[in-house]
Amino acid sequence: MSPAPGDEGGGIPLRVNCPRCGESTVYQGNPWRPFCSERCKLIDLGRWAEEKYVIPTDDTPPEEGE
Ligand SMILES: [Zn+2]
Repeated sequence: MSPAPGDEGGGIPLRVNCPRCGESTVYQGNPWRPFCSERCKLIDLGRWAEEKYVIPTDDTPPEEGE
């Protein structure tokens, strides 16, 4: 058996599943962790932002009569 190339011998690389798309991705050295990519991170953050910053709607009831 020959050692796999790229094996740093640092044990098992920590992998996580992207909470956005569920894709298995590395955690260490991943700038977008725990996401798999910048896209997933932005999407998720954007989603949170939308939920957080709820825009108050001027729900003015229709005027009755004339
Ligand atoms: Zn993803």
